Amino acid sequence: MPEMKECLLEYTREALVELLGSLGHKPFRATQLMEWIWKHRVPDFQAMSNLPPALRDALQARFLLRPLQVVEVSESTTGSTRKFLSRMQDGHLVESVIIPAAVGQGGAHSSRLTLCVSSQVGCAFGCRFCASGLLGLTRNLTASEILGQIVAAEEIAGERVDNLVFMGMGEPLANMDNLLPALTQIMDPHALNIGARHITISTSGNVPGLRRLAAFGRPLRLAVSLHGASDEVRSQVMPVNRKWPLGELIPALQEWNRTGKHMITLEYILIQDVNAMLPEAHKLARLARSLNAKVNLIPYNTVEGLPWVRPSEADCKAFCRALVAERVPVTMRYEKGHDINAACGQLRLRREQQRS
Ligand code: SF4
Repeated sequence: MPEMKECLLEYTREALVELLGSLGHKPFRATQLMEWIWKHRVPDFQAMSNLPPALRDALQARFLLRPLQVVEVSESTTGSTRKFLSRMQDGHLVESVIIPAAVGQGGAHSSRLTLCVSSQVGCAFGCRFCASGLLGLTRNLTASEILGQIVAAEEIAGERVDNLVFMGMGEPLANMDNLLPALTQIMDPHALNIGARHITISTSGNVPGLRRLAAFGRPLRLAVSLHGASDEVRSQVMPVNRKWPLGELIPALQEWNRTGKHMITLEYILIQDVNAMLPEAHKLARLARSLNAKVNLIPYNTVEGLPWVRPSEADCKAFCRALVAERVPVTMRYEKGHDINAACGQLRLRREQQRS
């Protein structure tokens, strides 16, 4: 395997000052370096024309600026989404989805370009509807690999990403040590400059991670994969519920609400004969009201190799109407990019299957 280099994308200005100091350079060089990395987006140290050649050589010998190599880009037939697969230095693959949506998460914010970001290679949580969980967890992404997806998406799309959803491969709250530094760079006005209100963190209900994210203290958006409004139903869909059942998850979400963050979105995949029956809608309504949350219903997207079935359109609409009747804000979302395997993990899964 080729030598692994550290990537500078995750270096804050303070970290760059320290690094450059250790190489015998003044702090103003950190400002210059930040500008080359984030304003001019140069992928190569040698292009940094106002840095001394010896410094460019020293940086090039130890660091890189692009931790991902894009190996496949696939476009949905409607042209609405583009999914790309990137190879990291150790050969592992990660996928991300570019969504040029006019409307942001929950319809509240308009945006030009949304990116669905991955946070891990594979996932340990094994939600039953998800292809990422089928291969288990390989490793956490570094902060630079998370940031590298945004940089790569902007290079593919030719414009800036202004809305981020952490809904790709992996459970972001199981990778807090890399997620928090990545978020710091994402929100830094001198780096990616994407506001907290344009960042949605999606979690399967990792309670310790939720508490740590609340303590991070930024007004991020939170989407919780609920998919069951009782422990009995939720544990069938999400094994994580056995570790952190609703009795622990709901108080953690109430605490999130108390710290003044945005309204929580409860994600609920409608699966025939599992959680799409009307009595479940009433339980879900009670939970949503207790959290002052909105609900996002997603008719199940058939995944090759998984057993479940999408309910009929009439059943989905009846479920939705039951929530509306109980005064719960609700949206129904049909997955975009159905034809390019846009459910998280499917593109990587197909590649891994081809390889083996
Ligand atoms: S839905 Fe998210 S948390 Fe669950 S297995 Fe898939 S990637 Fe992991």
